[in-house]
Amino acid sequence: MIVLGNWKMNGNRDLLKGFNSYNKGLLSNSLEGVFPGLLLPYPYLGLAGDLIPGIKVGAQDVYPEDEGAITGAVSGVMLKELGCHWVCVGHSERRKIFHEESEWVAKKCFYVASHGMTPVLCVGEDAVARSQGRAREVVLEQLKPVFQSNKPPEDLIIAYEPVWAIGQGRSASMEEIEDMHQCISDYTNNYLAKGASVPIIYGGSVNPENAKSIMKVSGVDGFLIGGVSLSPELFCKVVDLCSSYCSSSM
Ligand code: PEP
Repeated sequence: MIVLGNWKMNGNRDLLKGFNSYNKGLLSNSLEGVFPGLLLPYPYLGLAGDLIPGIKVGAQDVYPEDEGAITGAVSGVMLKELGCHWVCVGHSERRKIFHEESEWVAKKCFYVASHGMTPVLCVGEDAVARSQGRAREVVLEQLKPVFQSNKPPEDLIIAYEPVWAIGQGRSASMEEIEDMHQCISDYTNNYLAKGASVPIIYGGSVNPENAKSIMKVSGVDGFLIGGVSLSPELFCKVVDLCSSYCSSSM
């Protein structure tokens, strides 16, 4: 199970240090079957390794060019140099606030993979689309530019994050999660080599309480966690729960 914390534009040096009191090896990838990490704001990427031994980090975005006159942008070369394992692309907040279209997100996705990091491709419908019964259609449209025009990256994670469940304190229901994860995997399997699969993680108001049920839902390969990743205690609790679940089902 992949358990990624997304700090968004939150946190500070002290919060990073705070993870050490709860870490107890939990974040160091020493757990069988659990791959935890933090997607940090750019300034903390280089610090994390010193402050949290063994931690794996990723970025929340990237600009898909190696260098140039692009003020404020950060390239994949820089992220790789800082030790990033993952780069999130197409988070709903970036799609909304920065008007990022799915073609642009796909470009970032391929770019990240070409630099030896794993893209975490975020997809998810908003409340209007869901209420109109268009949730699947919206999610498949978001996936299309990555799967239809090119060979999809071999190392890719898809994060299904219904926009209406992000930061709301209430996740999607188990049925809604199972249904969409199945829909995504049916779609992506058409473009993958026989036997291959893309891990699909769920994001949207995950906490230690609901994680216990969501992790058992068929097709859920882990979590993308926003608010709760700002609490070392709660985030490590989710990692711990995943670890117990993985060892009990092995
Ligand atoms: C997110 O922003 O990716 C997210 C899932 O946030 P939260 O867990 O706070 O809903």
